[in-house]
Amino acid sequence: MPELPEVETVRRTLHNLILNKTIKGIDVYYTKIIKEPRLTDFINKLVGKTLIDIKRQGKYLIFIFDDTALISHLRMEGKYFIKDQGDKIEKHEHIVFNFTDKTSLRYHDVRKFGTMDLRDIDKMYTTPPLSKLGLEPFDPLMTVAYLKGKLHKKEVAVKTCLLDQHIFVGLGNIYVDEVLFRCKLNPTLKASKLKDKDYQNIIDNSIIVLNKAIKLGGTTIISYTSSLGVTGLFQNELNVHTLQGEPCPVCNTIIEKTRVGGRGTYYCPKCQK
Ligand SMILES: [Zn+2]
Repeated sequence: MPELPEVETVRRTLHNLILNKTIKGIDVYYTKIIKEPRLTDFINKLVGKTLIDIKRQGKYLIFIFDDTALISHLRMEGKYFIKDQGDKIEKHEHIVFNFTDKTSLRYHDVRKFGTMDLRDIDKMYTTPPLSKLGLEPFDPLMTVAYLKGKLHKKEVAVKTCLLDQHIFVGLGNIYVDEVLFRCKLNPTLKASKLKDKDYQNIIDNSIIVLNKAIKLGGTTIISYTSSLGVTGLFQNELNVHTLQGEPCPVCNTIIEKTRVGGRGTYYCPKCQK
């Protein structure tokens, strides 16, 4: 499943490749990807519009077509490809945006869990799905006071709270393990036990880990000539995630695996007491 750094890498790649293109037509082969509005309105609102920006909020890609925002979530397997319009439509290409320059942007999704919604740009942040998101660590509004306000009464594992996208946006299962390792916090610790310095550490280390992952995701872009699927290089930088049985890079204690909120969780029993 793509996490925030992978989605940001897709955003940057598409931003470099398809900005200022104008939609000539849209072919839809699997309609259920489109949540709102209904299909004919979806097509009518986009045809003739020009892509002026691509933003990201959490794991949502936001394509700004003049006054309309196309909000896309890749879920498990969603990918974008850029191809010539003459190229054959492949099996899992469900939605094809044809541009006036004879290229096309194709949404490919083996699992079909991805979603697309259209919103007027002046309402996109105040209506779902974007209105339901919590803050990213990069957001100027993400402060100790914000995080403490959300978490200080929660008798739930800190890891589970940080995975809740209504509170904290950007950490998936891989990155949350890495952030908690850097913070020297046990993933099962109840959020109510966090101290002010822990909140600040969580924010600071989330920024460090995500920025590093975004940077490494970017290093593989050059190979995405036909596919925009992302497999970054961050796996080489992991300290604990998937490394049970290996020595901790800080103290050499053997890394353990457990489950927290149903998710496979990796930690150093000494550094993260
Ligand atoms: Zn350790």
